[in-house]
Amino acid sequence: MNMELDRNSVRTVVCKFGGTSMADQSSTEQVADIVKSDPARRFIVVSAPGRTQGGKKVTDLLMECDKEISETGRCDKTFPQIEERFRPLHGGISDEAFDRLMKDIKEQIESRKSRDFCISRGEYLCAYLFAAKIGFPFIDAAELIAFNRYDGYDSEKTERQCRARLKNVERAVIPGFYGADETGAVMTFSRGGSDITGSILAQIQKADLYENWTDVDGILNADPHIVPEARIIDAMTYSELRELSYLGACVMHPDALLPIVKAKIPLNVRNTFHPDQNGTLVCSNIHSTNRHTITGIAGKKDFRILWIHKIGLNTHKGFVRKVLSILEYHGIVFEHMPASLDTMNILIPYASMQPCLAKELADEIKESIHPDSIQLLDKIAIVSIVGRNMFQRVGIAAKMLTALSDNRINIRMLIQGCREINVIAGIDESNYERAVRALFDAFLAADEA
Ligand code: ASP
Repeated sequence: MNMELDRNSVRTVVCKFGGTSMADQSSTEQVADIVKSDPARRFIVVSAPGRTQGGKKVTDLLMECDKEISETGRCDKTFPQIEERFRPLHGGISDEAFDRLMKDIKEQIESRKSRDFCISRGEYLCAYLFAAKIGFPFIDAAELIAFNRYDGYDSEKTERQCRARLKNVERAVIPGFYGADETGAVMTFSRGGSDITGSILAQIQKADLYENWTDVDGILNADPHIVPEARIIDAMTYSELRELSYLGACVMHPDALLPIVKAKIPLNVRNTFHPDQNGTLVCSNIHSTNRHTITGIAGKKDFRILWIHKIGLNTHKGFVRKVLSILEYHGIVFEHMPASLDTMNILIPYASMQPCLAKELADEIKESIHPDSIQLLDKIAIVSIVGRNMFQRVGIAAKMLTALSDNRINIRMLIQGCREINVIAGIDESNYERAVRALFDAFLAADEA
């Protein structure tokens, strides 16, 4: 159980319920019970209903609607499926009001011809119906979350709008995922963006806690596909979550952390279907000591290393800048860049670099800095041990390297920053699963201290 939070002192909780929580009648009953069980749960952000067995997410159906409208001007084929998804959730309003609401929404999405407006209606309808069901006021996210047509999310205007609109509002249900620009036109965040809405509202409302309710018991300390006995992390810091989520272990939208980190609001990831579990608590400081030296193991495949060699590289001014500006010009992002006296290693995710760019990139780098040698190494994975308790502890890296070497896993690259929150090894992709397993056994197995 996480000991870091005194529930008795919690007055305002912003809760976000994801698509699986809002998927059908029985799950929304669970959500209603959760909300009602604690009066501090005052601001409820919801996603559109997610996938049901054999069915699709409502947002995906709305994307199909948008396509149908662009082809035929109407959405007669797809919209009825959406209507059927919402019908069981309309307990708070009469059948006539429901039919009228759905007719209006269909007409609006057909006439406005805006993709963002169309795909935002899942959250709109879900929040509207859920508010009626639990007897909370509904507040449209278009009145709260501000976008600028060209620059995206506008935090200052959002703060002003929320302060004005939510002043004296005791409780509300608010749709996630979207807001409106200066003309009132709806704009959305990227997919999964309801997490961001919840986080923004938690920051602005100075919530004592942001609860993110999903369909897992919390954040696991390793990938359960590789380590079936991986366990839920009880509590961790924002930095640890960043390091773990960055490598794929997270259940939240990556942009959702920033607002709550800024305002130091604790985050609790919880399971709607197991509300008796405490989930994972994430905050700026953890006082309890973790029995293990590390908190979790993260990892990811699909990297390549751009390796550049030039004798005396360390004495060439502007070398790094020139290479990075070539990457920037091609829109290539990199994740790590360990360097030594004569070499530079740039770790690039596959998704960020088309293979057809390799030759062009190499030619441009050759022309710009005349390296002695340049190579692109493919099929690289990274594995990382993450943990606040590693700081100033001797022997952690040694233990990691021993675990890898005992399993005959060669290390192609090694990174540790001076904050000592993680050690990252670059390895051949074929060794990835064995490496995660070996690190789990070494650091996190039940009998390992
Ligand atoms: N409904 C949107 C999606 O499916 C946003 C969200 O669920 O957060 O991505």
